Amino acid sequence: MERILIIGAAGQLGSELTFTLSQQYGGDNIIASDLNPKALEKFEYCKTAVLDIMDQDAVRKLVKDQNVKQIYHLAAVLSATGEKNPRFAWQLNMDSLLFVLELAMEFKMDKIYWPSSIAVFGPNTPKINTPQFCVKEPNTVYGISKQAGERWCEYYFQKFGVDVRSLRYPGLIGYKSLPGGGTTDYAVDIYHKAIAGEHFDCFLSAETALPMMYMPDAIKATLDLMHAPKESVKIRSSYNLAAISFTPEDIYQCIKTHHPDFTISYSPDFRQSIADSWPDSIDDTRAREDWGWNHEYDLKKMTEDILRNLPAYLV
Ligand code: NAD
Repeated sequence: MERILIIGAAGQLGSELTFTLSQQYGGDNIIASDLNPKALEKFEYCKTAVLDIMDQDAVRKLVKDQNVKQIYHLAAVLSATGEKNPRFAWQLNMDSLLFVLELAMEFKMDKIYWPSSIAVFGPNTPKINTPQFCVKEPNTVYGISKQAGERWCEYYFQKFGVDVRSLRYPGLIGYKSLPGGGTTDYAVDIYHKAIAGEHFDCFLSAETALPMMYMPDAIKATLDLMHAPKESVKIRSSYNLAAISFTPEDIYQCIKTHHPDFTISYSPDFRQSIADSWPDSIDDTRAREDWGWNHEYDLKKMTEDILRNLPAYLV
């Protein structure tokens, strides 16, 4: 039996991706792994493993024993958290990717998925409709690690034939788990406050536009890319990917149509300068052309869906 290993499965993206992968392949073929044993308890429908990606012997043993043929490597230190301990962020993000790429070669794996981010872009990048190929110059350790990671992915594909695929996610918005320390986390927290009937103090300014995506679209994009024929995946660094672009004021006004008493204030902190260095919107033509990417959710549709479904997750 060939299995799929998800590393960092208990996080914001992994929690939902693991569920969909289990539906598609059957829970017995999916191994959800994470550092955090408590967080793995929610995966009743698939196999689980407590695993530190930095413990190379333990990861190699599991890959061998369980005949792992695909890895989704999601464990990373995110943008805002990375700035608090840059050397640790670099070490975890880089060493773990290189190790996974080496494992893919050693065990002749079918495919690897590794997410990049809009954090690869920097202050000198064109801000509107940011092209696939352009100046990057990221100025966070997270962005630097994602850009270097993209180069490594392309290198391992070209030199060693490792079938590694990647997307530059925008800010991901989901209601099924809490975000893990990114600069776009406000767009998740705001819904929690609105539903709790509380005031929301936003850590970005009212007019900060950022590219964002609702989680069901992110899961769909990830699996569309992974299921695409090898020859359709023409970009082996990482694909630009886009859905919605909005400001904190836009999302506030959208929520207010459902919760008229909801109030907001703005207190930009260190995350404002990270957000200012990122694009306002992304050109993802290549993803749409090469493997048929199409998003489904705009701001209004996403907001209606979250406000309808989040309360059940809070009880
Ligand atoms: P998250 O922080 O919510 O989840 C990461 C998970 O990795 C956590 O459950 C954590 O316990 C686990 N982890 C951390 N260190 C580990 C280690 N040493 N070994 C094993 N597991 C470890 O992150 P996320 O938001 O789910 O992001 C997943 C991936 O997607 C990351 O690579 C991130 O850079 C990328 N991404 C996320 C966003 C976003 O908006 N969430 C945007 C762009 C890219």
